[in-house]
Amino acid sequence: MTSNTPRGLRWTIRLLSVLLFGLFMWLQGFVVKDINDQEGPNRGLIAAEHEDSALVEREKELNKNAAHIEREIARQEQIKVNRKENMTVAKDTWNQFAQEHRLYLDSNQPPPAELVGTVQEAQTLYIEATKEFETANGKISELQESQYTVALEKEGMRRELERQRGEGYDAYMELYTAHRWQVAAGKLAFVVPLFLIASWLVAKKRKSIYRAILIALLVSSFLRVGIVMHEHFPAEFFKYVGIIAAVIIVLSFLVHALRSAANPKEDVLLRRRREAYQTQRCPDCAYPVPEESGKAMACAACGVDLYTTCSSCDEIRHELLPHCRHCGAESEKWHGAG
Ligand SMILES: [Zn+2]
Ligand SMILES: [Zn+2]
Repeated sequence: MTSNTPRGLRWTIRLLSVLLFGLFMWLQGFVVKDINDQEGPNRGLIAAEHEDSALVEREKELNKNAAHIEREIARQEQIKVNRKENMTVAKDTWNQFAQEHRLYLDSNQPPPAELVGTVQEAQTLYIEATKEFETANGKISELQESQYTVALEKEGMRRELERQRGEGYDAYMELYTAHRWQVAAGKLAFVVPLFLIASWLVAKKRKSIYRAILIALLVSSFLRVGIVMHEHFPAEFFKYVGIIAAVIIVLSFLVHALRSAANPKEDVLLRRRREAYQTQRCPDCAYPVPEESGKAMACAACGVDLYTTCSSCDEIRHELLPHCRHCGAESEKWHGAG
């Protein structure tokens, strides 16, 4: 792209370069993702290797037992509530008929056989309910005892399993970390050479008409290197790498700018000098100079030769421009001055 490329075409090239940059990013993203998706260590398998399977089975059994005991205790509690109700009802009935029974005895009359039967029945019911209540109580005590035993065994088992699971986790993390490093190395092995090749091409092919394509490749691979580093390296480490990379980039731009300021490129130099001669100023120090009058002339301020005698036609020529305006002869001297 030069300064005389039409505006529309220039913008088209810029737009296409940005689009190409996006496509490069996308493509590199796919490759990096494929590298990233490599299967890592299997966590379940490693955990199983470190766990005592008999212990795991026993733990399951104990959990089942504990749940069963809990359900049984709840059932016995329910029986207790029922029997307690039965006892109250039986006792009330018993009391009521016993009172009647006593009235007969107090008035020296034999109580009817039916009444005697009812009193006895209520008494039996009360005694039975009481017995059942006591039985349920006893069962609950037994159950609570085995609940305690199970809890004790479970606690010991839990500690042992926790230790084994901790070991399994550590072993997994070790393998996982190694796997992540491997993935990072794989990604860098793809993006770093790409970045280096792109940098080399951009540096080498300064004048190439395909420079925009190379720059798109360079910027996209540079960003991709940054993304990979950011994903895989600790923030502390990344910070230093990032700062060093930024320093290198800024320095290279600065060096480039300083160099071109000290040694302007031919076209820049030529433009500057043309403008200076047109506006009648010294190209080197910008001091105003009189119009060319057919005689050799130097700058009154800095002493640089402005008009000299042409070595081909002996007319007066611009010393700091490439060609003699009379004969067109080209002078190599104009590069050196300035
Ligand atoms: Zn001057
Ligand atoms: Zn000449």
